[in-house]
Amino acid sequence: MSKKHGKHKSGQSGDGAGVTEPSGLSHGQVRPPSTSLWVHAADEIAGVAPGSVEAHGSGAVAAAPGIAVVAPGTPFDLAGVDTAADGGLDKDWTKEALREERARIDALQERLYAERRRSLLLVFQAIDTGGKDGTIRAVLKGVNPQGCTVASFKVPSAEELDHDFLWRYHARTPGRGMIGVFNRSHYEDVLVVRVKGLVPDAVWRARYGLINDFERLLAESGTTILKFFLHISKDEQRRRLEARIANPEKHWKFDPADLVERKSWDSYQEAFADALTRCSTPHAPWLVVPADKKWFRNYVIAKTVADTLAAMDPHFPDAAKDIADLVVPD
Ligand code: ADP
Repeated sequence: MSKKHGKHKSGQSGDGAGVTEPSGLSHGQVRPPSTSLWVHAADEIAGVAPGSVEAHGSGAVAAAPGIAVVAPGTPFDLAGVDTAADGGLDKDWTKEALREERARIDALQERLYAERRRSLLLVFQAIDTGGKDGTIRAVLKGVNPQGCTVASFKVPSAEELDHDFLWRYHARTPGRGMIGVFNRSHYEDVLVVRVKGLVPDAVWRARYGLINDFERLLAESGTTILKFFLHISKDEQRRRLEARIANPEKHWKFDPADLVERKSWDSYQEAFADALTRCSTPHAPWLVVPADKKWFRNYVIAKTVADTLAAMDPHFPDAAKDIADLVVPD
């Protein structure tokens, strides 16, 4: 397959074939855990020394060119991202390249599953119609379903609301050997909850730190975390809503409530920008994906997942001793 990469319009460096290290993610910036409880929990669960994020966390994150990695501690200018960027890639080339990335994911996932030591968590957040469902289908098609879990988070149930806000998310994190997908996530509790004023300000404000602690616990327990924000423009959302209204086969996807939510577009953008800024950490960086062009979105996310799995470098476990000499009895 010929590579028809042009220049990357978004200004990201790289030739599209290599691995881009997330910018500003120095391991020296790892914050100390906020409470001794987290240190103890991580230690107890994984036998991992506190502060050893490097071995399990962002050391493996490999964002594809065209994806913006939010630098920890730096206000992120969401409005400055070109949602229609396509990295100068050729659409037809990208379709074939996506197939190759999927094959890589499948092969690496088999090793991750066999190794059964670590896990990968893919978090997807976007405004309504942002493309979470389509991305998950396109990127994970062909991956062995046994090694993959997908959790979609809706309006919390009464039982969920009777617990701390992270309870329902923690219960769905991937076990060792698994790729876990969050279709919406714990970030809803600083997004829709904030925009709709579902809890007092002081409550959602305290959650950014709690989310960082939660993700740090996961990272120190052997989970590599990739958080994708699918960034579309307001015009693109209008086009997608109109397409759903016009196509009877897409009516099931159309929720009139989306039209109401659209009126809060600016408030959502502000809430997204704050979440990206406050919760991009060395152990769980936020990756902002220009998502108006579905083919570009799918390819760069698949490449990021494949490159990250490759950097994790999972290995098949050692074979039983002298396996070559074993004979299967009649
Ligand atoms: P999706 O849009 O993800 O395909 P739905 O149309 O069923 O799925 O929407 C799920 C809804 O659940 C969204 O409106 C979302 O804002 C809401 N939701 C998710 N998590 C929470 C939460 N923690 N608190 C309140 N609402 C939530």
